[in-house]
Amino acid sequence: MPTYKAPLRDVRFLMNDVLDYPAHFKTLSNGELADADTVDMILEGAADLCENVLAPLYQSGDDEGCHFDNGTVTTPKGYKEAYDQYVQGGWQGLSYPEEFGGQGLPMSLNLIKSEMMGTANWSFTMYPGLSAGCMNTILQFGTDEQKNTYMPNLTLGTWSGTMCLTEPQCGTDLGQVKTRAEPQADGTYKLFGTKIFISAGEHDLTENIIHIVLARLPDAPKGTKGISLFIVPKFFINEDGSVGERNPVFCGSIEHKMGIKASATAVLNFDGATGYLIGKVHEGLHAMFTFMNTARIGTAVEGVAHAELSFQGALPYAKERMSMRALSGKKDPEKVADAIIHHADVRRMLLTQKAVAEGGRAMIYHAAQLADKMTDNLLKGDQAGHDYWDDKLGFFTPILKGFLTELGLEASNLGIQVYGGHGYIKEWGMEQIVRDARISTLYEGTTGVQALDLLGRKVLLSSKGKVVRDYTAEILKFCSRHARNKQMRRFVWDLTKVCAQWNTLTIRLMLTARKDRDIVSSASVDYLMYSGYAMMAYFWAQMAAVALEKIENGGTEVPEFYQAKVQVAEFYFDRLLPRASGHAEALVSPSRTLTQLAPEHFSFDY
Ligand SMILES: Cc1cc2nc3c(=O)[nH]c(=O)nc-3n(C[C@H](O)[C@H](O)[C@H](O)COP(=O)(O)OP(=O)(O)OC[C@H]3O[C@@H](n4cnc5c(N)ncnc54)[C@H](O)[C@@H]3O)c2cc1C
Repeated sequence: MPTYKAPLRDVRFLMNDVLDYPAHFKTLSNGELADADTVDMILEGAADLCENVLAPLYQSGDDEGCHFDNGTVTTPKGYKEAYDQYVQGGWQGLSYPEEFGGQGLPMSLNLIKSEMMGTANWSFTMYPGLSAGCMNTILQFGTDEQKNTYMPNLTLGTWSGTMCLTEPQCGTDLGQVKTRAEPQADGTYKLFGTKIFISAGEHDLTENIIHIVLARLPDAPKGTKGISLFIVPKFFINEDGSVGERNPVFCGSIEHKMGIKASATAVLNFDGATGYLIGKVHEGLHAMFTFMNTARIGTAVEGVAHAELSFQGALPYAKERMSMRALSGKKDPEKVADAIIHHADVRRMLLTQKAVAEGGRAMIYHAAQLADKMTDNLLKGDQAGHDYWDDKLGFFTPILKGFLTELGLEASNLGIQVYGGHGYIKEWGMEQIVRDARISTLYEGTTGVQALDLLGRKVLLSSKGKVVRDYTAEILKFCSRHARNKQMRRFVWDLTKVCAQWNTLTIRLMLTARKDRDIVSSASVDYLMYSGYAMMAYFWAQMAAVALEKIENGGTEVPEFYQAKVQVAEFYFDRLLPRASGHAEALVSPSRTLTQLAPEHFSFDY
């Protein structure tokens, strides 16, 4: 089974050489806290926690799963102890304000930490991940009293959080939410209804669980405009801040599911549970978007995490497993056959995994810098500054979530393929990664929903294509900076073509949508995937440019490290970027071929 090793050399290459984190930290008001020694300590500490505490529980947690007994949920053996270690290490408060007991470091460090944790053990990482979303929502929309009540223990990690959106009749279309919030004379609300699929909805890791719940007031307008947001603690909080009586929100059952079995997915019944309004009445969905955006970037990380873990499992196997001879001649002549890593097709699989993991990581670390700027402005009370960076991040979010989880799933599957039939057998641990990865394209908005958000809302409606024009202008600037470098020429040429095509496709869709409204839906997933391949190409080109410079002038790594970056970039441009052309061709086709078949003609047998 894969043994997780934190890829710290790759992480440092990205942070120090490609994305210049030290300079980035200097632009933030809390950046001075993230000096080189502190960042190093965090990376080493997170690696230690992940390799030695979380990774060893990955497979056993899957085997055992969570236990449900009459409303109580117990996590698998070792999870509570691991969580206690996580809390003692102060990991939950890493990027949260010092006034609530956190360390006040930039948000990006939290994301980098969660990538390592998620790769080591995704199920475990779900618990603190949900808490982070809950904390972000309270920080942005909570009153001072709410912040003071909930933030300290959430920051410590002794309390955890959830997000309660989904109901039996709706997950995507939250306008259908039925959970009822009845106003009480004391200004609180009583909530009635059932939420399903609630991650970390009930468990034994923390002494309290703070639910963030979407519900509807009796006089609320229909649809998404009539939904409000509430804080519903599992246990009431006493005057002195200690945990008090039980609030009537109970776990009815937990789901038996395909993967992430150590993460409890709960049905929660709100039987008149007391809730406290957070944000404005009827504007709950807007507030919830804060939570969802955090969660979406968090889920994009899952694509990278599963690609990385599957690669870490596949690589040693490909070096050891012997099969036939390489077509170009014997590579291990003293052995009965060559190791499968010498076959070009096995290399295709390994390189795809590697390109996705490292390219995806670069995309995430870049998004993390935008998240830093957004949070920095929020903490400074600069709403306009916050909204500017929120908008920028908003363009990347659906691409990261949709594209990286789709590719993460593909990369995980390739890990099974490298193992041949053995990949399908449980004891090797490769099939667990695929089962765990499968959820990533579904929750936090399916790929289809991310695609609609990207093309419909962010590209066409809100910006009339300006977001793409702005982003491609940035890529073209990079191209002109490197155009004279012979070794960069092929990257520059392909990127320039992609930029032109990305804009042309956008304009074409904008014009077509005037007469063919279904085109937005029919083109959206291809458009999202196209955008993802284009964006990842830009990050591979950036990594190649830095690596080439280091080969010439020297860097902290051995020359082979940089050479490998250039070679993987070449692989990406030769083998993965061409997939964008297929998406381009498909997305401009009229929607008719998708819409013409009548629902009753999909089958004539049933
Ligand atoms: C393990 C797990 C954990 C989860 N954790 C949480 C959690 O913590 N909190 C929470 O609130 N929810 C959670 N969810 C719920 C999850 O977010 C939803 O399942 C998801 O958003 C999809 O909603 P749905 O299942 O109702 O599917 P539906 O909304 O019914 O969608 C079905 C299909 O129709 C497509 N579709 C729907 N509308 C459109 C449209 N307008 N255009 C094009 N295609 C469309 C979708 O893409 C999908 O393919 C979790 C789910 C699981 C399985």
